[in-house]
Amino acid sequence: MTLNEKISKFLDSKSKELQELGEFYPEKKSLIIDYGELEESESGMELVEELIDSPEEFISIFEDAIRDRDIPTLVKEPKFHVRFTNLPRENMAMVRNITSEYITKFVSVEGVVNKVSDVLPKVSIGTFICNKCGEIHEEPQPTRFLREPIKCNNCERGDFRFVPERSEFIDIQRLEIQEPLEILTGGEQARRIELWVEDDLTDRVTPGDKIMVNGIVRLMPPLKKGPVYRQYIDANFIEPIEREFSEIEVTPEEKKEIINLSKDPHIYDNIINSIAPSIYGYKEVKESVALQLFGGRYGKTLPDGTSVRSDMHLLLVGDPGIAKSRLLQYVDQLAPKSIYVSGKGTTGAGLTAIAEKDEFADGAWTLKAGALVLAGGGIACIDEFDKMGKTDRESMHEAMEQQTISVAKAGIVAKFKADTAVLAASNPKFSRFDSYSPIGEQFDIPPTLLSRFDLIFPIRDILDAEQDKKIATHILKMHMSEADKKGLEPPIPVELFRKYIAYARKNIYPVLTDDAADKIKDYYVALRSSGSGAVPASPRQLEAIIRLSEASAKIRLSNSVTVSDVERAIDLTNFVLREVAMDEEGRIDMDRIVTDHPKTQRDRIRTIENIIQRLVADSEEDMALFDDIMRGAEEQNIDKDRAKQILQELKNKGIIYEPSYGKYKWLEA
Ligand code: ADP
Ligand code: MG
Repeated sequence: MTLNEKISKFLDSKSKELQELGEFYPEKKSLIIDYGELEESESGMELVEELIDSPEEFISIFEDAIRDRDIPTLVKEPKFHVRFTNLPRENMAMVRNITSEYITKFVSVEGVVNKVSDVLPKVSIGTFICNKCGEIHEEPQPTRFLREPIKCNNCERGDFRFVPERSEFIDIQRLEIQEPLEILTGGEQARRIELWVEDDLTDRVTPGDKIMVNGIVRLMPPLKKGPVYRQYIDANFIEPIEREFSEIEVTPEEKKEIINLSKDPHIYDNIINSIAPSIYGYKEVKESVALQLFGGRYGKTLPDGTSVRSDMHLLLVGDPGIAKSRLLQYVDQLAPKSIYVSGKGTTGAGLTAIAEKDEFADGAWTLKAGALVLAGGGIACIDEFDKMGKTDRESMHEAMEQQTISVAKAGIVAKFKADTAVLAASNPKFSRFDSYSPIGEQFDIPPTLLSRFDLIFPIRDILDAEQDKKIATHILKMHMSEADKKGLEPPIPVELFRKYIAYARKNIYPVLTDDAADKIKDYYVALRSSGSGAVPASPRQLEAIIRLSEASAKIRLSNSVTVSDVERAIDLTNFVLREVAMDEEGRIDMDRIVTDHPKTQRDRIRTIENIIQRLVADSEEDMALFDDIMRGAEEQNIDKDRAKQILQELKNKGIIYEPSYGKYKWLEA
């Protein structure tokens, strides 16, 4: 039996599917065949061997066999495809393992989509007219380049004119996938490969989707003459895969070990001490990072259908050289799924996502996924957060609260999922961090973005001899003999810790007990009334405390959030508020975080404005004199330096101007 006959025999068992295909054409164009079913058919072993070893020929014969059946359709000359799904494990490869041995072979690869081009028309059959005699030629176009007929069938010359209007086109789209972050260990770089999809496979995926691709590995010739070819996959089938930690397998023995660990009365200390043991101190920061790794209860939705974010965001701000970057890198190594990027150094798609015109799609638009999209379901460690570009800064607001990223540019409207927790670090604008000035003034991060963080940790490099000695001893230990390193190993080994996190994230969905809910309510009400009257605390803080409490329960692998979990969340919140939101009088003032000016400062500005207004009203020339303003300020207990600074600021903002030296005018007047 020839291959053709074997395929034809197999198709006999598919007559029902083929008839259906005809009825629905062109909404449906592809006959989808399960690899297992093909293998189990009569000449199964030979058929699958042909598919794997000579897919191009096999698929072409298969499609011809379908065409020869003359399935009735509403459209003339239908073009059916055959697509193969569910390839066995042994035919799966990682992107990095696709070597030249795979060229022209059929392979199955898993990856996360990071680039998607526009859908473009590609010539499938080109029509050429001979310039000498006018003979018409139709030339199939299987490659990337337009191929002319070699010579005219009529006059034997080789001079042609291409006629696009009389040629046939097919939709194509170029994609790029990269290895899923969760299969990489400790900071490995994800490898990428390009995919070409055609016809009914176009417009199926967006950047960030995790997919399984079956297709033929091919070589792409260099655009200009040169010896370097690139591999790409001519996709035959694409199927989406659920985004979860499916790659991290927890064996029954490991599960037992994890459950045992969770019952240890020192579980919290063990977990905290397993985070960056090489970094001395920072207990509260490490505790928060631990909670972040576990996350709040996943998949909560409100009665109106909107979902509540379970990921918490943390920001570390402070002086250079205090191990911020070191901590971020450690978390990247530890987290089951993560990415480490620097706000400054991220090129291309950056942190969020972009639409760009480039050579990837021969000058057409391409959507590209950035760090937050690629790390979906995991953690993005973003260093130098304040240095990120303008576009990222704008989409970061949406990404951190709604956990989506929208791109609207030149007619492209796309929305990506970005369910990613952000662990960010930032250096102060001026060389040193000043704990008495509001955070918003010291960092190039807009207050609106700051308010998206569940916890903000200012870390100060305080001159303290005792503390310095301890840090020095700690750092030196790591550079000494193995024996001296004792006590620096994490209580929970990294591999087990990673599985512990993955297990908890997948299986534990804690719910607030009544007592816990009451405790949160009481704290929140007290927090709001303890404020200095401006903006004491917002529902955002309430949600943050709920998330932190849930994460605390998850560490114990418990499905109920108790009062002790809430206490842990409250202690951390208080710690942070004491550091960042306390005003000079010792009251909590959220304005110190969420606006550029804390309430007291805003009051001073208003007072100076009032003084100027009054002076202008009393003056014949509508002017306020510098000395009079200063005197007025002094009467209101505002010192001269502050008053001068405010005056300068009002001038900068264009509220007042200085037509002649020392005389101020109201701009609106
Ligand atoms: P940053 O990002 O805050 O500017 P880095 O992470 O680059 O700082 O840290 C600078 C160096 O100082 C690192 O080698 C780090 O290990 C060391 N270091 C600073 N503080 C500590 C600490 N508390 N414990 C251990 N090492 C520290
Ligand atoms: Mg740094």
